[in-house]
Amino acid sequence: MITDKLGRRINYLRLAIVDRCNLRCTYCMPEQGLDWIKQKDLLTDEELYRISKVFTELGVNKIRITGGEPFVRKNCMGLIANIAGLEGIQDLSLTTNGLLTYPYIPQLKALGIKSVNLSLDTMDKDRFLEITRRNSFDKVIRTLDALLKHDIKVKINTVVMEGRNITDIIPLIQLAEKNPIDIRFIEEMPFNGSNKKISIKWDHRQILDHIKAHFPTINKTIDPKSSTSYNYQIPGFQGSVGIIAAYTRSFCGDCNRIRITPAGVLRTCLYSESGINLKDQMRSGKNDDELKNSILDAIQDKPMMDG
Ligand code: SF4
Repeated sequence: MITDKLGRRINYLRLAIVDRCNLRCTYCMPEQGLDWIKQKDLLTDEELYRISKVFTELGVNKIRITGGEPFVRKNCMGLIANIAGLEGIQDLSLTTNGLLTYPYIPQLKALGIKSVNLSLDTMDKDRFLEITRRNSFDKVIRTLDALLKHDIKVKINTVVMEGRNITDIIPLIQLAEKNPIDIRFIEEMPFNGSNKKISIKWDHRQILDHIKAHFPTINKTIDPKSSTSYNYQIPGFQGSVGIIAAYTRSFCGDCNRIRITPAGVLRTCLYSESGINLKDQMRSGKNDDELKNSILDAIQDKPMMDG
């Protein structure tokens, strides 16, 4: 069991296995992409597996595979299969944009992957191209349909962007009427070049007001501990609606999360840029006990942002 100095129990690791992505969402990166991490500086499959094993031995029982886009990495599926076999894993999930995911869905099901987070900001093909700079809407919908067919829980993550996809909020929610999909709307990141919070028009209150105007019977449900979203149910709908106040509220008090970057840096807060480099420690010959001690020390200093 990992506990930080504020008594928060850490059992959830977000493991970014690659920095590259095959979309170019305007709110995420420029058209030409980023300065990608060099191959030699990425964690190898063996290192990713070793890190996962060390964390599960410390008490982490929930791992989410993320990127970039995880399926851009060679052998993504082999890696997921190896991590799924670790003793102590109760919940292995992944976040994907859905472009390359489709052929792997039967394997994901066979491995016991219970939930997949699908990033989708619009139900309009032309707007998808505008937002992502790629003409791949149909591939995402094919993945969505196949996930539902295989009875894998789907959460759709939608970044709410002023002037871009406000008209998509209601059509996305309508997907949850006949399908067991959780639609989660995320506040857009305010790029203000500082750590100071600035106001954004489509904050969680504004998003909720908009939804309530269309679905006045929507109810607040009880949020699970450590939930990052405010959760709601519309009577008669199979799925649910969530709003993630990513920038106007923090959930630090119940936070159970840490993450590993593709270059092997342990970040004890999803929004923190500092951390220890586990890849360097592994490559300098540290054994598993030494890694565990470094991890436990680093987690002691997990931050608490203001709310
Ligand atoms: S800001 Fe950091 S510590 Fe607070 S809830 Fe988010 S990840 Fe956890």
